[in-house]
Amino acid sequence: MASLNGGFHIKDMTPISMLDWEGKLATVLFLGGCNLRCPFCQNPELVLQAGDIPDIPPEDVEKYLKEKHSWIDGCVITGGEPTINHGLEFLLSRIKNSGYPIKLDTNGTRPRVLRQLIEKELVDYIAMDVKTSFDNYKLATGSRVNTETVKESAELLVKSGIETEFRTTVVPGYTKGEDILWIARYLARLNASRYTLQQFRPDRVLDPTVGRIKPYPRGFLLSLVEECNDFLPTKIR
Ligand code: SF4
Repeated sequence: MASLNGGFHIKDMTPISMLDWEGKLATVLFLGGCNLRCPFCQNPELVLQAGDIPDIPPEDVEKYLKEKHSWIDGCVITGGEPTINHGLEFLLSRIKNSGYPIKLDTNGTRPRVLRQLIEKELVDYIAMDVKTSFDNYKLATGSRVNTETVKESAELLVKSGIETEFRTTVVPGYTKGEDILWIARYLARLNASRYTLQQFRPDRVLDPTVGRIKPYPRGFLLSLVEECNDFLPTKIR
Protein backbone atom coordinates (compact mmCIF):
# COMPACT_ATOMS: atom_id res chain seq x y z
CA MET A 1 0.00 0.00 0.00
CA ALA A 2 1.33 3.44 -0.87
CA SER A 3 2.03 5.85 1.92
CA LEU A 4 -0.99 7.52 3.50
CA ASN A 5 -0.82 11.28 3.79
CA GLY A 6 -2.61 14.61 3.92
CA GLY A 7 -6.01 16.12 4.66
CA PHE A 8 -7.13 13.87 7.49
CA HIS A 9 -6.18 13.67 11.12
CA ILE A 10 -6.02 10.30 12.85
CA LYS A 11 -6.05 11.18 16.55
CA ASP A 12 -6.49 7.80 18.14
CA MET A 13 -6.59 4.14 17.23
CA THR A 14 -7.99 1.03 18.86
CA PRO A 15 -5.90 -1.74 17.31
CA ILE A 16 -8.51 -4.47 17.87
CA SER A 17 -12.15 -4.12 18.83
CA MET A 18 -14.97 -6.63 18.95
CA LEU A 19 -17.53 -3.96 19.85
CA ASP A 20 -17.48 -1.49 16.99
CA TRP A 21 -18.53 -3.69 14.07
CA GLU A 22 -20.85 -6.52 14.98
CA GLY A 23 -19.41 -9.90 14.08
CA LYS A 24 -16.02 -8.49 13.07
CA LEU A 25 -12.64 -7.96 14.63
CA ALA A 26 -11.92 -4.40 13.61
CA THR A 27 -9.27 -1.73 13.90
CA VAL A 28 -10.88 1.57 14.86
CA LEU A 29 -9.44 4.89 13.67
CA PHE A 30 -10.64 8.09 15.38
CA LEU A 31 -10.51 11.23 13.24
CA GLY A 32 -10.44 14.67 14.88
CA GLY A 33 -13.01 17.46 14.73
CA CYS A 34 -16.78 17.66 14.55
CA ASN A 35 -19.33 20.15 13.22
CA LEU A 36 -21.75 19.45 16.12
CA ARG A 37 -21.54 19.90 19.89
CA CYS A 38 -23.79 17.22 21.35
CA PRO A 39 -23.77 17.83 25.13
CA PHE A 40 -23.64 14.07 25.77
CA CYS A 41 -20.78 13.42 23.30
CA GLN A 42 -18.46 10.73 24.64
CA ASN A 43 -15.39 11.88 22.73
CA PRO A 44 -15.25 15.54 23.81
CA GLU A 45 -11.49 15.85 23.40
CA LEU A 46 -11.77 14.83 19.73
CA VAL A 47 -14.42 17.51 19.25
CA LEU A 48 -13.10 20.40 21.35
CA GLN A 49 -9.34 19.83 21.48
CA ALA A 50 -8.54 17.95 18.31
CA GLY A 51 -5.87 20.51 17.41
CA ASP A 52 -4.01 19.78 20.65
CA ILE A 53 -3.87 16.02 20.07
CA PRO A 54 -0.94 14.94 17.92
CA ASP A 55 -1.81 13.05 14.76
CA ILE A 56 -0.91 9.39 14.63
CA PRO A 57 1.44 9.11 11.67
CA PRO A 58 -0.48 7.48 8.82
CA GLU A 59 2.58 5.36 8.10
CA ASP A 60 2.22 3.73 11.55
CA VAL A 61 -1.39 2.86 10.80
CA GLU A 62 -0.41 1.58 7.40
CA LYS A 63 2.29 -0.63 8.88
CA TYR A 64 -0.04 -2.04 11.52
CA LEU A 65 -2.78 -2.84 9.01
CA LYS A 66 -0.29 -4.53 6.73
CA GLU A 67 1.11 -6.69 9.56
CA LYS A 68 -2.30 -7.75 10.89
CA HIS A 69 -3.94 -8.33 7.56
CA SER A 70 -4.52 -12.02 8.13
CA TRP A 71 -6.68 -11.65 11.20
CA ILE A 72 -8.36 -8.26 11.24
CA ASP A 73 -11.71 -8.29 9.42
CA GLY A 74 -12.17 -4.60 8.77
CA CYS A 75 -11.58 -0.96 9.66
CA VAL A 76 -14.00 1.34 11.47
CA ILE A 77 -13.63 5.07 10.79
CA THR A 78 -15.14 7.17 13.53
CA GLY A 79 -14.56 10.47 15.32
CA GLY A 80 -15.46 13.21 15.87
CA GLU A 81 -17.21 13.45 12.54
CA PRO A 82 -15.11 11.77 9.86
CA THR A 83 -16.84 13.48 6.92
CA ILE A 84 -15.43 16.92 7.83
CA ASN A 85 -11.89 15.63 7.13
CA HIS A 86 -11.03 16.79 3.61
CA GLY A 87 -8.76 13.84 2.99
CA LEU A 88 -11.29 11.20 4.03
CA GLU A 89 -11.73 9.87 0.51
CA PHE A 90 -8.00 9.44 0.12
CA LEU A 91 -7.70 7.66 3.47
CA LEU A 92 -10.56 5.29 2.67
CA SER A 93 -9.24 4.52 -0.78
CA ARG A 94 -5.86 3.57 0.68
CA ILE A 95 -7.46 1.31 3.28
CA LYS A 96 -9.76 -0.21 0.65
CA ASN A 97 -6.88 -0.84 -1.70
CA SER A 98 -5.15 -2.75 1.06
CA GLY A 99 -8.10 -5.14 1.16
CA TYR A 100 -10.05 -4.07 4.23
CA PRO A 101 -13.82 -3.59 4.32
CA ILE A 102 -14.75 -0.25 5.92
CA LYS A 103 -17.44 0.82 8.33
CA LEU A 104 -18.03 4.57 8.66
CA ASP A 105 -19.71 6.28 11.62
CA THR A 106 -21.39 9.59 10.81
CA ASN A 107 -23.83 12.17 12.14
CA GLY A 108 -25.38 12.38 8.69
CA THR A 109 -24.98 16.14 8.17
CA ARG A 110 -22.78 15.79 5.07
CA PRO A 111 -24.89 13.89 2.53
CA ARG A 112 -22.76 15.02 -0.41
CA VAL A 113 -19.67 13.42 1.12
CA LEU A 114 -21.60 10.23 1.88
CA ARG A 115 -22.92 10.11 -1.68
CA GLN A 116 -19.42 10.35 -3.12
CA LEU A 117 -18.06 7.65 -0.82
CA ILE A 118 -20.92 5.32 -1.74
CA GLU A 119 -20.63 6.03 -5.47
CA LYS A 120 -16.91 5.32 -5.34
CA GLU A 121 -17.54 2.11 -3.35
CA LEU A 122 -15.28 3.24 -0.53
CA VAL A 123 -17.55 2.13 2.31
CA ASP A 124 -19.23 -1.19 3.10
CA TYR A 125 -21.29 -0.27 6.12
CA ILE A 126 -22.51 3.08 7.45
CA ALA A 127 -23.76 3.70 10.98
CA MET A 128 -25.64 7.00 11.11
CA ASP A 129 -26.84 8.82 14.19
CA VAL A 130 -30.34 10.22 14.27
CA LYS A 131 -29.91 12.34 17.37
CA THR A 132 -33.58 12.99 18.15
CA SER A 133 -36.80 14.04 16.43
CA PHE A 134 -36.03 16.76 13.90
CA ASP A 135 -37.83 19.50 15.87
CA ASN A 136 -35.45 18.97 18.80
CA TYR A 137 -32.15 18.75 16.95
CA LYS A 138 -30.76 22.01 18.28
CA LEU A 139 -31.11 20.85 21.88
CA ALA A 140 -29.56 17.43 21.26
CA THR A 141 -26.68 18.64 19.11
CA GLY A 142 -25.85 21.98 20.73
CA SER A 143 -25.77 23.33 17.17
CA ARG A 144 -27.95 24.77 14.45
CA VAL A 145 -28.47 21.82 12.15
CA ASN A 146 -30.26 21.93 8.84
CA THR A 147 -32.20 18.71 9.34
CA GLU A 148 -32.80 18.53 5.60
CA THR A 149 -29.19 17.31 5.37
CA VAL A 150 -29.89 14.56 7.89
CA LYS A 151 -33.03 13.56 5.98
CA GLU A 152 -31.09 13.55 2.71
CA SER A 153 -28.43 11.28 4.23
CA ALA A 154 -30.99 8.89 5.71
CA GLU A 155 -32.82 8.60 2.38
CA LEU A 156 -29.56 8.20 0.50
CA LEU A 157 -28.39 5.36 2.73
CA VAL A 158 -31.65 3.45 2.49
CA LYS A 159 -31.91 3.88 -1.28
CA SER A 160 -28.27 3.03 -1.89
CA GLY A 161 -28.75 -0.48 -0.56
CA ILE A 162 -25.51 -0.21 1.41
CA GLU A 163 -25.56 -1.98 4.77
CA THR A 164 -26.83 0.67 7.16
CA GLU A 165 -27.60 1.06 10.82
CA PHE A 166 -29.43 4.04 12.30
CA ARG A 167 -28.85 4.69 15.97
CA THR A 168 -29.79 7.02 18.77
CA THR A 169 -28.21 7.55 22.17
CA VAL A 170 -31.08 7.85 24.63
CA VAL A 171 -30.37 10.68 27.07
CA PRO A 172 -32.87 11.89 29.69
CA GLY A 173 -33.78 15.52 28.96
CA TYR A 174 -32.47 15.29 25.38
CA THR A 175 -34.16 12.26 23.87
CA LYS A 176 -37.54 11.43 25.31
CA GLY A 177 -39.55 8.31 24.63
CA GLU A 178 -41.75 10.24 22.21
CA ASP A 179 -38.65 11.31 20.22
CA ILE A 180 -37.52 7.69 19.92
CA LEU A 181 -40.93 6.56 18.68
CA TRP A 182 -40.99 9.48 16.23
CA ILE A 183 -37.62 8.35 14.85
CA ALA A 184 -38.74 4.72 14.62
CA ARG A 185 -41.86 5.74 12.65
CA TYR A 186 -39.75 8.00 10.41
CA LEU A 187 -37.21 5.24 9.69
CA ALA A 188 -39.96 2.72 9.03
CA ARG A 189 -41.50 5.09 6.46
CA LEU A 190 -38.12 5.24 4.73
CA ASN A 191 -37.94 1.43 4.72
CA ALA A 192 -34.84 1.37 6.89
CA SER A 193 -33.88 -2.15 7.87
CA ARG A 194 -32.93 -1.60 11.49
CA TYR A 195 -32.60 0.77 14.40
CA THR A 196 -30.36 0.67 17.48
CA LEU A 197 -30.85 2.42 20.80
CA GLN A 198 -27.70 3.14 22.77
CA GLN A 199 -27.65 3.62 26.51
CA PHE A 200 -26.24 6.96 27.61
CA ARG A 201 -23.10 6.87 29.77
CA PRO A 202 -22.56 9.97 31.92
CA ASP A 203 -18.77 9.58 32.15
CA ARG A 204 -16.56 11.71 29.86
CA VAL A 205 -19.23 13.91 28.32
CA LEU A 206 -18.84 17.21 26.49
CA ASP A 207 -21.08 19.24 28.81
CA PRO A 208 -20.10 18.61 32.46
CA THR A 209 -23.69 19.25 33.63
CA VAL A 210 -24.79 16.28 31.53
CA GLY A 211 -22.39 14.15 33.56
CA ARG A 212 -24.82 14.50 36.47
CA ILE A 213 -27.77 13.06 34.53
CA LYS A 214 -28.85 9.59 35.58
CA PRO A 215 -29.35 7.27 32.58
CA TYR A 216 -32.82 5.87 31.95
CA PRO A 217 -33.36 2.51 33.66
CA ARG A 218 -32.70 -0.43 31.34
CA GLY A 219 -36.34 -1.48 31.72
CA PHE A 220 -37.44 1.80 30.14
CA LEU A 221 -35.12 1.26 27.16
CA LEU A 222 -36.38 -2.29 26.76
CA SER A 223 -39.96 -1.07 26.69
CA LEU A 224 -38.98 1.48 24.04
CA VAL A 225 -37.32 -1.26 21.99
CA GLU A 226 -40.53 -3.28 22.20
CA GLU A 227 -42.59 -0.33 20.97
CA CYS A 228 -40.10 0.51 18.19
CA ASN A 229 -40.22 -3.09 17.03
CA ASP A 230 -43.80 -2.41 15.94
CA PHE A 231 -42.28 -0.15 13.28
CA LEU A 232 -38.90 -1.74 12.39
CA PRO A 233 -36.42 -4.23 13.89
CA THR A 234 -34.87 -2.48 16.88
CA LYS A 235 -32.32 -3.50 19.42
CA ILE A 236 -30.48 -2.02 22.37
CA ARG A 237 -26.73 -1.73 22.66
S1 SF4 B 1 -21.66 12.83 19.52
FE1 SF4 B 1 -22.09 14.78 18.46
S2 SF4 B 1 -20.38 16.14 19.03
FE2 SF4 B 1 -19.73 14.03 19.49
S3 SF4 B 1 -18.67 13.33 17.68
FE3 SF4 B 1 -20.79 12.65 17.46
S4 SF4 B 1 -21.82 14.30 16.32
FE4 SF4 B 1 -19.87 15.13 17.08
